[in-house]
Amino acid sequence: MSIASKIAELKNELPSTVKLVAVSKFHPVEAIREAYDAGQRIFAESRPQEFREKVEFFRDVDDIEWHFIGHLQTNKLKMVLPYVSLVQSVDSVRLLEAIGDWALRNGREIRILLEIHISHDETKQGFTFEEAADVLARMASDAAYCSGVRVCGLMGMASLTDDQELIESEFESLRKAGADFGKYACGRISMDELSFGMSSDYKIAARNGSTMVRIGTMIFGERTY
Ligand SMILES: *Cc1c(COP(=O)(O)O)cnc(C)c1O
Repeated sequence: MSIASKIAELKNELPSTVKLVAVSKFHPVEAIREAYDAGQRIFAESRPQEFREKVEFFRDVDDIEWHFIGHLQTNKLKMVLPYVSLVQSVDSVRLLEAIGDWALRNGREIRILLEIHISHDETKQGFTFEEAADVLARMASDAAYCSGVRVCGLMGMASLTDDQELIESEFESLRKAGADFGKYACGRISMDELSFGMSSDYKIAARNGSTMVRIGTMIFGERTY
């Protein structure tokens, strides 16, 4: 099946409240072009170098939105932040503060999601719910703290498992946290976006309050690392 027909299928399947983020990591610019020509506008990458190369390749196309979804080291910020419209993978206070410093120095506002560790897998990164609550409380009460950062919501990844109920309960925990963290809403904090759901579990995600699914394999095929 072509990239265009995969995108058409997904758009048809997803409720209008769920944005489709096409995860193009490890796929060539030709594949991105094909998706773009099929009407896709939001793309996500997970490695700083590759992110910047792709952004530069499409720099004359002004209606593409680029998200960053991978682990971001603080020494790589300048490859990503000048071009990004949403950093979905802010997974530590250290990274949040580094983005805050960069934003202040560069007179920019950077939109982010806090990545929450919802899975039962050992390796996944992210804040615990308690850590996220602490940092949101601090941002809400101290306008100078990370002043250039706008929190737009939460991101999470479910366990890699066939257990649908486990996945559903992990998504549900993120949805509940989003509702709970609404109490920190202020000028630069909202819980508008809940990014969860990938190729294997986007249908469960769409039924459980996701506003944004991140889909790679189903659109572009398997990645060769
Ligand atoms: C790679 C990746 C995806 C896409 O995964 P697929 O299974 O290919 O759809 C989604 N989210 C994150 C954070 C990723 O790194």
